[in-house]
Amino acid sequence: MQNRIQTLDELSSKVTLTESERSAFSEANRVFSFSLSPYYLSLIDPEDPDCPIRKQAIPRPEELLRKPNEVEDPLAEESHMPVKGVTHRYPDRALWYLSHVCAVYCRFCTRKRKVSDSLETPHRSDWELALEYFRTQKEIREVILSGGDPLTLSENQLDWILKELKTIPHINQIRIHTRYPVTLPMRITDELCEVLSTHFPLFVVTHFNHPKEITELAASSIEKLIKKGHVMVLNQSVLLKGINDNSKVLEELNYRLVKVGIKPYYLHQCDEVYGSHGFVVPMERGMQIMTELRGKQSGICQPLYVKDLTGGGGKVPLTPQYYIEEKDGKYKFQNYRGIPFEVSH
Ligand code: SF4
Repeated sequence: MQNRIQTLDELSSKVTLTESERSAFSEANRVFSFSLSPYYLSLIDPEDPDCPIRKQAIPRPEELLRKPNEVEDPLAEESHMPVKGVTHRYPDRALWYLSHVCAVYCRFCTRKRKVSDSLETPHRSDWELALEYFRTQKEIREVILSGGDPLTLSENQLDWILKELKTIPHINQIRIHTRYPVTLPMRITDELCEVLSTHFPLFVVTHFNHPKEITELAASSIEKLIKKGHVMVLNQSVLLKGINDNSKVLEELNYRLVKVGIKPYYLHQCDEVYGSHGFVVPMERGMQIMTELRGKQSGICQPLYVKDLTGGGGKVPLTPQYYIEEKDGKYKFQNYRGIPFEVSH
C-alpha cells in the first residue's frame, strides 16, 4: 500500500502511456483519485493500450464525459442512509461503508463520489452509531462490510467490528466485500485469516473481472481464506466494454474462479455512474453473452446477470431472452439452442 503509484510521472516511468491517457490523467485524478498497487501494475501489459487490466486502472478520456443518464450516486445509497455509512434499502440487509481506501481505484467504481476521499473516512463514533442502528432494526438479518475496501482496517478493528455484530441476535449472516485478493493479494495474511476464522461463518465476496487477474498469488490468497479463514468465497464481476464483454473471456474467468474455490455470484451491468460511458455494454449484448454461456458451461460456473436499478430500485435479474410471447394462455419460450416450446402456466 505504501508503494502505490499515484502520480503521472511514476506511472509513465512504468507504462508506455498513449497521448490520450496522458492528457486524461490530471483531470480524471482530480475527480476520482488515481492509485495503483505495484502488484496490480505487474499484471498490466505496459505496451498494450487495450490490456484489460490497464483499462480498469488507468484513466481514459471517456471518463471525463458526462452523459445525461450518468449520476453521482446511481444506486441512491445516500438517500437510503439512516445513519452515516449505513445504506439500508432492502428490508433484511444493510451495507456498511467502513473505509474510503482501496489499493487500486477502479475507473468504473460506483462509489467514486466518496471512495478515495479522506473526508469520507468513517470514525469510531460513526461505527458506534451504526452498531446501535443494527441493534434496534430487528428486520436486518445481514450486514455487508464494504467501502472502499473493508480489509484496509487492521485485524484489531475488524475483530472488534465482527465481535460486536455477532452479539446482535437477529443478524444471521455477515458478508465482506473486498477487492484485495485481486489488487493486493498479500493483504490476505495468516493473522487476518486467524481473525476471520474466529467469527465463522463469514462470506467473502471478491471482484475478479478478467481471467488474467487469477494469478498464482491471487489463487493462494483464496486458498488461505478458505482453509485458514474458514470463509465461503463468492465473486461478483462487472460487465465491462473491451475488458470482459465476450463469452470466451467470461467462460475462462468462470472456470478459473471455480478452479480456485470461488463460486461466481453476480455479473453486474455497469452502473450509470458519471464517467462510466466507456465501460458500458448494451444489456442486449449482455443477455446474448449469458445465452451463449448457458449453452456451454455448467450452472456451478455461472453468475446471475443483474442490473442494479438506477435510483435505488434494487437488483433485477437480466435473464437471457428465452421468453418469446403469450397467446391464448400459452407461454412460448425458446431454449438455449433457439428451439421454441410452449407451456400453459
Ligand atoms: S475496489 Fe471496489 S470500492 Fe474500490 S475502487 Fe474498485 S470498485 Fe470501487
